[in-house]
Parts: sequence; C-alpha cells; structure tokens
Amino acid sequence: MGLRETIREFMLAPAPSGYESCMAALLKARLEKHCDEVRIDRAGNCIGRIAGTASAPLRAMVFAHMDELGFIVRRVNPDGTIQVDRLGGIPEKALPGLEVLLRGEDGSWHPGVIGVKSHHATPAEEKYRVDPVTSVWIDIGAQSDSDVNRINIFAGCPAVYRPTFRELEGTRVAGTSVDDRGGCACLTDIAARLAAERPRCDVYIVGTVWEEFNLRGAMLAARAIRPDLALSLDVTLAGDTRDLAERFDVRLGEGPCVQLYSFHGRGTLNGAIANEPLFRLAKKAAGECAIPLQRFSALGLLTDAAYVQLEGEGVACLEMGFPARYTHSPVEVCDLNDIEGLSRLVSAMLVTLDDGYDLSRY
Ligand SMILES: [Zn+2]
Repeated sequence: MGLRETIREFMLAPAPSGYESCMAALLKARLEKHCDEVRIDRAGNCIGRIAGTASAPLRAMVFAHMDELGFIVRRVNPDGTIQVDRLGGIPEKALPGLEVLLRGEDGSWHPGVIGVKSHHATPAEEKYRVDPVTSVWIDIGAQSDSDVNRINIFAGCPAVYRPTFRELEGTRVAGTSVDDRGGCACLTDIAARLAAERPRCDVYIVGTVWEEFNLRGAMLAARAIRPDLALSLDVTLAGDTRDLAERFDVRLGEGPCVQLYSFHGRGTLNGAIANEPLFRLAKKAAGECAIPLQRFSALGLLTDAAYVQLEGEGVACLEMGFPARYTHSPVEVCDLNDIEGLSRLVSAMLVTLDDGYDLSRY
C-alpha cells in the first residue's frame, strides 16, 4: 500500500490526545507486517521493533505522534448546545463554520457544527472580530441537554475537527491532522524499508500519544526503550505562503527537514538543539542518496523530542520532519514527496549507522 493510501487512512482516523487507540490499532496493523514485534504500552504508545544485526547494537528510536488537536466538552447547556475548551493549540480563528466530531463515553462518534452568527444580523463592528472558544458552541442538532446525554455525551468528552483528506494537484494533499499522520505514514514506510535492508542497530518505531496535550507520551516510550538516539518526525512550518515568506526558508516539495533549534518559553521552558553527530549523519545520508535537505529553526515551537532528550543519561536527539502549510488548521497542506524523502533519509541514516558511532556532543 502506497504512502498516499496510508496517509489517507491515518488522517481519517479521529484520535485526539488521550484517545489515540483507533490510530494505534491502524499503525500496529501496518507495523506488524514489517517489525519483529509490536506492542502497545499502558499509555497507548505503539512500539514496533526491528532487531539489528550487530552483536551489541545501538538502540535507535524513531517516533511520530499519533494524536491530534481537539476539544473537551466543558458544559452541556439546557438548550442542547455544547461548550468546549481547547485540547492543544486550536486556532480560534478557525472555529466559525467548523465541522466537528464528538466522542461519546461509549466510544461512538457524532457530528456537530460550530455556528456562525447569521451574516444578515452581524453588525459592522463584529465582522472582523475573532471570538474566543469560550463564546462559541457546538450544535449537534439536539434540543435539550437530555438529548445530548442520551447519546453518551457529557462534560469531559473529546471532539476533533471532522477528519478530512483531500487530494490536491500533483503530490500535495490537504486536510486535518497532516500533523502528524504524515509522520505516522512515514513510520510505516521506514519500517518496510528497514525490514528489507536490516540495519545493524536495533530500531524501535514508535507512534506516540499526548504530543498535542503535554508532549510527554514519547518520554514514557523512551523510558521503556532506553534508546541511545532518537529521531522525531513531525511537521515543520512551510514559509512558502504569502503570509510567511519573510519568516522561514522551508518550502513544500523541496525535501525533508532537519530542525536545528526549537524553543518554547511561555510556561514550558523547553526545546531541543540538534545533536551534531546525528545532524552530520543526516547530511551524509542525504548527500549519498541525493535527497535535498532543508534546515529549519523556530522559536515558539516544541515537539516531544524535547522531553525524550532528557531521559536516562541523555538521548541523542534529532528533530526531523516535512514542511506543512496552515498548521493546526483543518486544512493543513503537505507534499507527499517530502514525506517519501524523509522516509528514505531516515532509513539511509539508520542503515549506515554502525555500532561505534560517537553520539556525544563533545
Ligand atoms: Zn506535531
């Protein structure tokens, strides 16, 4: 099954943070075709292992997060409308006119919409205003709170953007959760390549939980795996649209990315500075395989690699990825060629990694 079909299947699975099980089951089924063993841990991380051929192999973890942004029901109103909080970085600009799916306590999914004030009745001063999530509501067609409760929706239930996948021109696709089902699709492709090429290192291929929530699901997987090195696969911010052209050099269709610096200061105070030996390995593999490599650095951004790097005696980490436009909106756009390039690059890095490779920074 090709990358296009895999990413389509993954993007259409509703899996907000904390409720990744349907995505984990899909990923597990794909990884089982190529890995020596696959398991799902208590937190919900899906962990596949491809045994290395070395007698004392290095342990490498390659991971992408399975979860997506969403909402959590805060209150069911007597009139049957539903108020929510954000689960992860949902842009409030994207809320009016949004289609969503709500998950009942029994695991069933139900469609709903976030309305927009009737245009004919909107005064001029409201036309350019962004309303906070606390002032909007989800309409599922219910006429009372008991209608809502009858389908098992209560406070605490999650919701997601209604999952969509659209094929655009050429190799570009659009929809919900390109971040990071693109990375998850890449994991399955890497597993297939490594099963055929058999690296010397042990490779753990991991779909992680909670990235959009607290960034620490991958940390739990790393604690169990105890990797020497870890490669995280996630979106980077494409700077090739009219609104971001002055901010970033990364462009769709120009290859996979290495993220050399990420940092998030507001309350979080964490980030990742690329491990140089791994960056050198990436450059060498890219050169040998004629894969273009884009460099990316961004403030205000954080991935779960920031926590993985702090495990054990320190895990050598490299944040890698593929560019995406309109991140965290319901219409994220990426180019499948970049994801394929990322898969080839990561596979080449792991296949050429020998047991004595020095991962220390100094
Ligand atoms: Zn992400």
